[in-house]
Amino acid sequence: MIYKTSHTFPKGGIHPPEYKLTQNVPIKPLPVPKSVIIPLSQHIGAASAPVVAKGDHVKTGQVIAAANGFVSSNIHSSVSGVVSKIDTVIDASGYRQSAIFIDVQGDEWIDSIDRSVSVISEIELAPEQIIEKCRELGIVGLGGATFPSHVKLAVPKDKKCSILIINGVECEPYLTSDHRLMLEKGEETLIGIKILMKALHVEKAMVGIESNKPDAIEHLKELSKRFDGISIHSLTVKYPQGAEKQLIKTLTNREVPSGKLPIETGAVVHNVATAYAVYEAVQKNKPLIERVVTITGKSLSAPGNYLVRIGSPVNSLIEAAGGLPDDTGKIVSGGPMMGKALQNTGIPTSKGMSGIILFPASESIRGETGPCIRCAKCIAACPMNLEPHLLANASMKAMFERTESERITDCVECGSCSYTCPAGRPLLDYIRLGKSTVIKMARERNLK
Ligand code: SF4
Ligand code: SF4
Repeated sequence: MIYKTSHTFPKGGIHPPEYKLTQNVPIKPLPVPKSVIIPLSQHIGAASAPVVAKGDHVKTGQVIAAANGFVSSNIHSSVSGVVSKIDTVIDASGYRQSAIFIDVQGDEWIDSIDRSVSVISEIELAPEQIIEKCRELGIVGLGGATFPSHVKLAVPKDKKCSILIINGVECEPYLTSDHRLMLEKGEETLIGIKILMKALHVEKAMVGIESNKPDAIEHLKELSKRFDGISIHSLTVKYPQGAEKQLIKTLTNREVPSGKLPIETGAVVHNVATAYAVYEAVQKNKPLIERVVTITGKSLSAPGNYLVRIGSPVNSLIEAAGGLPDDTGKIVSGGPMMGKALQNTGIPTSKGMSGIILFPASESIRGETGPCIRCAKCIAACPMNLEPHLLANASMKAMFERTESERITDCVECGSCSYTCPAGRPLLDYIRLGKSTVIKMARERNLK
C-alpha cells in the first residue's frame, strides 16, 4: 500500500514558542524516595483493585493492584518496602482518588525482571503472548492518554490494522522526555516498535518526529536501517501534531471520521515511550514502574530529564532540579498547552506524567477577558475544523444539544483556540465543560 506523506497536517494548528531547555540534558535516575504514593487510577478505564494490605512487605516490580475490568490496568510497586496505608490522595488530575502508600526499605526487585544492560533483539513471543505480557505488566500509553496498551493492540475482529504509527512528535513546548529517550534508548525503542508490529500483524511502521529534533531523526534513521518496515519521518513543527488524528493525517493523508477511532483508517498509534516500555516488558519482563519525566522551568537552576519511580512525589523532582524558585507562580503537569496545574508539590508522579513545568508568577496570571470580536482566529487555529467560539458560547449558556450537533466531542482539547484568541476568552475551559456534559448525556442515552 502506498501512503501519501505530507510534512504536516493541513488544517489549523499554531506555533507556540519552544523553550526546550532540557533537550541536551541526558536522562538521570532520580534517587529512590523515602516513600511513594501509587495511585490506583493511572490509566483510562476502571481504577485497579488493591491486592496488598496495610503492613504487607512488597518488592520492586510486584503486583500491588489488579486490573478491574477490560479497560483497566495492573499496577506494580515501584519500590521495595512496607505498605503503610491504603488511602486517598489528590493526584495530578486534581481529583481525590485511592492510592497505595509505601514506606521504602532498600531496593529489592522481584527475580523475574532482567536488570542487565544487554539489548535483546530476538522477539520470541507470539502476538497473543505479547498482548498478554503488556496486560500483565501494566503497560499503558505514555503519551498522556494512558490507554491500556493491551486493549489498543487487540484490534476488533471486524477492523483491520494495516499500519503502525509511532508518535515521536513531542510538540508540546518545554517537554523533552521522548526526545531524550529516542536519543539514548533508540535501539530498544525500535525493537519495541517491531514487537508492536508483530502483535498487530503489520509489516509497516512510520515514526513521526518534528524537525526540531534533528539529532533524534538522524539517530533513528541510522538505526532503522537494521529494522525492516520501519521508516522515520521528519515533520514540520506545528502544534498539535502529536494528536493522533493530526499525526495520521500528516503521515498517511487519511482522515479519522468524526466520532470514530484511528483504526477506521487502518492505523494504530503508539507513543515512542510506550514502544520503549513494551520493549522492557516483553524482552526484560519489566513492569511499568518507572518513566522519564522532564522537570523544567525558566527559573529552575538545574532543569533536566529524570528516570522516575512511579509514585515519587513531585517535590523530589523539584529538589533534584535545584529546588523551588522563589518566583514560582504555577506548577503544571504535562505540557503548557494541554497540562494541568497541580494543587501541591506532594502529588505523586504517575504513568501518564511526561513533564513538570514551573512557571514564574509573571507568566501564571490569566489576562483580561474581553468580548468576542468575531475575528475567526479560533476557527482558523482549530485543527478539527470546529467553531470554538460557538462551542464555548453554547456551553456557557448550557445549550449542550447544540454543542453536540456541532461535534464538540471531536475536540482534541489542544487549546489552540484559547491560545490564539486576541480577546483572551477561556474557550477551552467552556468547551471541556460542554464536551464532558455531552459525553455523559450520550452515556445515559445508551443506558436507556
Ligand atoms: S476547539 Fe478543541 S480541537 Fe479546536 S482548537 Fe479548540 S481545543 Fe483544539
Ligand atoms: S478568536 Fe476569540 S475573539 Fe476571535 S472569534 Fe474566536 S472567540 Fe471571538
